[in-house]
Amino acid sequence: MSELKLFNSLTRQLQTFTPVHPGTEGDPNDPPEARVYTCGPTVYNYPHIGNMRAYVFADTLGRVLSYKGYKLTHVINITDVGHLTDDADAGEDKMEKMAAEKAQSIWDIAKHYTQAYWDDIKALNIRQPAHWSIATEYVPAMIAYAESIADKHCYELESGLYFDTSTVANYGALARAKTEDGEGRIEEVEGKRHAADFAIWRKTPAGETRQMEWDSPWGKGAPGWHLECSVMSEALLGLPFDIHTGGIDHREIHHPNEIAQNQARCGSDHSGAQFWMHNNFLIERSGKMSKSSGEFLRVQLLIDKGFHPLAYRLMCLQAHYRSELEFSWEGLQAALVRLKRMVMAVSNLKARHADTQTRHAELVSASIVPNEPTVEADKWALKQVQGDVAPGISVALKDFATAVEDDLNTAIAITSLETLIGLKKVDAAQHLGAIAEMDAVLGLNLQSLSRTDLRIRPKAAVITEAEIETALLLRKEARAEKDFAKSDAIRDDLIAKGVEVMDGDPLGWDWKLDI
Ligand code: AMP
Ligand code: ZN
Repeated sequence: MSELKLFNSLTRQLQTFTPVHPGTEGDPNDPPEARVYTCGPTVYNYPHIGNMRAYVFADTLGRVLSYKGYKLTHVINITDVGHLTDDADAGEDKMEKMAAEKAQSIWDIAKHYTQAYWDDIKALNIRQPAHWSIATEYVPAMIAYAESIADKHCYELESGLYFDTSTVANYGALARAKTEDGEGRIEEVEGKRHAADFAIWRKTPAGETRQMEWDSPWGKGAPGWHLECSVMSEALLGLPFDIHTGGIDHREIHHPNEIAQNQARCGSDHSGAQFWMHNNFLIERSGKMSKSSGEFLRVQLLIDKGFHPLAYRLMCLQAHYRSELEFSWEGLQAALVRLKRMVMAVSNLKARHADTQTRHAELVSASIVPNEPTVEADKWALKQVQGDVAPGISVALKDFATAVEDDLNTAIAITSLETLIGLKKVDAAQHLGAIAEMDAVLGLNLQSLSRTDLRIRPKAAVITEAEIETALLLRKEARAEKDFAKSDAIRDDLIAKGVEVMDGDPLGWDWKLDI
């Protein structure tokens, strides 16, 4: 097995992935493992499509680890308590603030937005992690953890229990920050010893009651956000584990603070994870990704505008995860067309293979060929295919492997997939098997999507698909009867309703609704 290279933010270098738990060679009951922790959303609002880029990235990493033969244990947390309106220790609790604004209980807010996030996870074909760790379920463990490091590493102020960042070696190394950098980047709290110190327990201010608060040795209050991830990653994956992921903003404060806690818990040369990996940002210039903007850019908006969500997944995969990616509707449309080309080509291959199988069955029933098992159409996998793999297929598979092993270079991997799809005169079963193998990594559902699934279907359309199909049929009849006035009138009416008629379109769109 060739090596998997991943960019480690700790060293700012590509490093070969070697698992903490390598298993026993040749023992299927003790496979090599990969344990991955991903910082999940704070469920006080809908995630925007930028947030979802972070989970497409984590999912791709998980899929590549599975492809490389590791038994994957992936944890994503749900922060339903404790995240303040800025990354440090001042400001309001995001959850409490939204609950007050909406006059709802904080538990209802958390439930609603967790479900909305899970809907997006499903829409983007992100695999379910082994554990969704819900922060409020770990509060006793968080208190125990804080107690275990409090004496040596923390001090108490009126507002809470604070972590003293000078008590661990090289605090902030992940961010490449100097201690004084903290001055500008973190808001001051009266009495803190250093600007970068952070709350691991936030006390409920005297005379106030929070909707979510717990008793602790430091009084009633709630855990600090950074503490949550250290506790849940240790509880579910053990320390050290393999890879910790998040968006690039977490490289600056949240992850250095997690590392400081992990050092306090396990010793200074112990960051908690071997690799810290960060996706770069999705950017959008008009400000639509701000959660307060009217037409807020979330997955549901893409769907409402008529786009299949997997077009957005492909858009993410077209860029390297460490590059910024600029969102535009034109870019999304281009990704949709690219996806459609692949889906149509795969459908044609499937149809061709089904034909071959029918012919094979006829020959079997006429006792002309022996009845050998054939590959079931919905269970494509190259492993199931008998015989030597055609050279074109092997080359494409090798190029694909080289790309994903090179720090998840999905942009190149997609081109290997397209080369593979475009091969001519190769055995259809092998062809489909190899496509399935690549798609297991990219998650584009090429085998199950159909051309019509990818039709642009805006929610605001004033005409239904059935009405469009009927009008087009009438237009066809009018044209057959050379009644061009009628056919033009039908076309004009469709245009007025936002339907573009696309006669003879090679991609088979037939018609398209304006977005
Ligand atoms: P949050 O719910 O704010 O903690 O964010 C969830 C995840 O999205 C985190 O990993 C963030 O680093 C990541 N993130 C936030 N904004 C963007 C963006 N514009 N592009 C990509 N990732 C982002
Ligand atoms: Zn986290």
